[in-house]
Amino acid sequence: MTVAAATFDLIVIGAGIVGAACADAASAEGMRVAMIEPGPIGGGATAAAMGHLVAMDDDPAELALARYSLRLWESFADLKEAEFSRCGTLWVARNDHELAAASQRIARLAAAGIDARPLDAAALYEREPALVPGLAGGMLVPREAVVYPPRVAQNLVQRAQSRGARLYARRAQALQRHGVRLDDDTLLSGPVLVATGCALPALLPALPMRARKGHLVITDRYPGFIRHQLLELGYADSAHGDADSSVAFNVQPRPTGQILIGSSREFSANDADVSPAMVQRMLERSFAFVPGLRNLQALRVWTGFRPTTPDGRPYLGAVPGALDQWVAAGHEGLGVTTALGSAKLMVDLIQGREPAIDPAPYAPSRMAA
Ligand SMILES: Cc1cc2nc3c(=O)[nH]c(=O)nc-3n(C[C@H](O)[C@H](O)[C@H](O)COP(=O)(O)OP(=O)(O)OC[C@H]3O[C@@H](n4cnc5c(N)ncnc54)[C@H](O)[C@@H]3O)c2cc1C
Repeated sequence: MTVAAATFDLIVIGAGIVGAACADAASAEGMRVAMIEPGPIGGGATAAAMGHLVAMDDDPAELALARYSLRLWESFADLKEAEFSRCGTLWVARNDHELAAASQRIARLAAAGIDARPLDAAALYEREPALVPGLAGGMLVPREAVVYPPRVAQNLVQRAQSRGARLYARRAQALQRHGVRLDDDTLLSGPVLVATGCALPALLPALPMRARKGHLVITDRYPGFIRHQLLELGYADSAHGDADSSVAFNVQPRPTGQILIGSSREFSANDADVSPAMVQRMLERSFAFVPGLRNLQALRVWTGFRPTTPDGRPYLGAVPGALDQWVAAGHEGLGVTTALGSAKLMVDLIQGREPAIDPAPYAPSRMAA
């Protein structure tokens, strides 16, 4: 039996951090919003993430979206639930070649208005004594931060609800002309925004998406053991390369004193199981940069899947060839960072306004082309 339609100004499908941010931004404009999420709020990729808010500068479009979003994240700095911790990002150079590359990155970030500074070896060890001896220096991005993504997603959903948004704890079964049918046959009517991350092709099969598996390890509490989010300068090769599997040094101090150790990327691993071999490879990489990590007690290991488009940029915009269908998905390993800017951009597009940044690089129609 089909249940009669309720009508909304925007129906957001998926309440990961991207859908939650879109629902929040739309409801803040007075739109009547419905949210559809069958699982826990922020329980998908969002719950698996490290929560590092970071500007990657190797793609100008990605940098523009990150920079826009990082400014919006400032309004969460005092929100207790966000667990916002401004630890800064410290990119580590193993040799002079990497250090020289860092100065180009500093220039690119400076051009985008992001403060980044070179560190010589002495300054590097003063900030992070636990790093292995013999490194050449690094690059510090002092205002970057870490957050706790699932709690932020919950907060965004609650904010939308406080403005009247309605949450349906159901699965969206199929998109319809001007609406969506839920798995209990309820029909919701209105423009639809699909924010279902890795599950996007189930509703929009024309938009390709791959799930890129990642592992994370979290330790017991060791306050002060490291002080910054630490990454190797070669991290972008892992994040943006197309290798079937890769690891990179990426370690984070949680506000609790726990250490979060990443990161791995795999395209062809489709199951959520922890792979001991991959964890070992990832840990060996981090031990090579911070040998003392070997002595810490790990508490838990988990996996998650990054929603990855063929060109690594998210789909943000109108669904090609459809009326009143929008998509915000495919943020790979940067969706926490870029959720807030993505949401603002989407609401501007839906309302027919010019967004604060050029939306063209993220237009889903590029896939049709
Ligand atoms: C190991 C790992 C580490 C990461 N670290 C970082 C980091 O440090 N910084 C960073 O910026 N990003 C990071 N990311 C990336 C980030 O987690 C993702 O880009 C982001 O969470 C994607 O959010 P999303 O809302 O698009 O997807 P999701 O969080 O997966 O949300 C999609 C939601 O849609 C729902 N859904 C699916 N199908 C349907 C349906 N038919 N009907 C209704 N709902 C549906 C799902 O239940 C889910 O809740 C990391 C990711 C991983 C895996």
